[in-house]
Amino acid sequence: MEAKVSVPEIEIVEKVTLPARETSVIVVDMQNDFVKPEGKLYVPTAQKTVEPIRGLLEKARARGVRVFYTQDTHYEEDPEYSIWGEHVKYGTWGWRIIDELKPVEGRDIVVMKTRYDGFYGTPLEDLLKVYGVRNVVITGTVANICVLHTAGSAALRWYKVYVPMDSISALNDFDYYAALRQISFLYRGVIVRGSDGINFD
Ligand code: ZN
Repeated sequence: MEAKVSVPEIEIVEKVTLPARETSVIVVDMQNDFVKPEGKLYVPTAQKTVEPIRGLLEKARARGVRVFYTQDTHYEEDPEYSIWGEHVKYGTWGWRIIDELKPVEGRDIVVMKTRYDGFYGTPLEDLLKVYGVRNVVITGTVANICVLHTAGSAALRWYKVYVPMDSISALNDFDYYAALRQISFLYRGVIVRGSDGINFD
């Protein structure tokens, strides 16, 4: 199919300050299989997002913002392998979160998930509720898959979603902009130009 489309106008915010006590940062699937060239489902632009995410986490931790990670997790004969091939198999190197963004033990919360949606079959919703979170800043990969599903799922629960453009990655531009469009237009999330424009007080 040959179709040329243009990206509709997406409102981009330069700066936002969020209340630390009511905000969480969620890092989606920044695992070796997705981020590293030797990984099984490599997303070439994911490497560029590591530094912006790292900077955001540093600010968040300094302000006492709770940090969540989702960790895509599959086991033997997972039905998802028929779509994507084997990836992030439990316990393997590819399954592990990249060293550069290693969760802080005893502080950050890692939620293992088996589908695209970080809420589906996981304790994420319960934990956000327990901690009184209302805003979620979502980063990670893949933009139009697990990031989009998790952002949508958060928005359907009336969490306010914030996404820094420099902190998500996709396999191509169409997928990247389609994700931003859906998050902005459909889920009324806030697209922030860069992670350096997000602060906590
Ligand atoms: Zn998967």
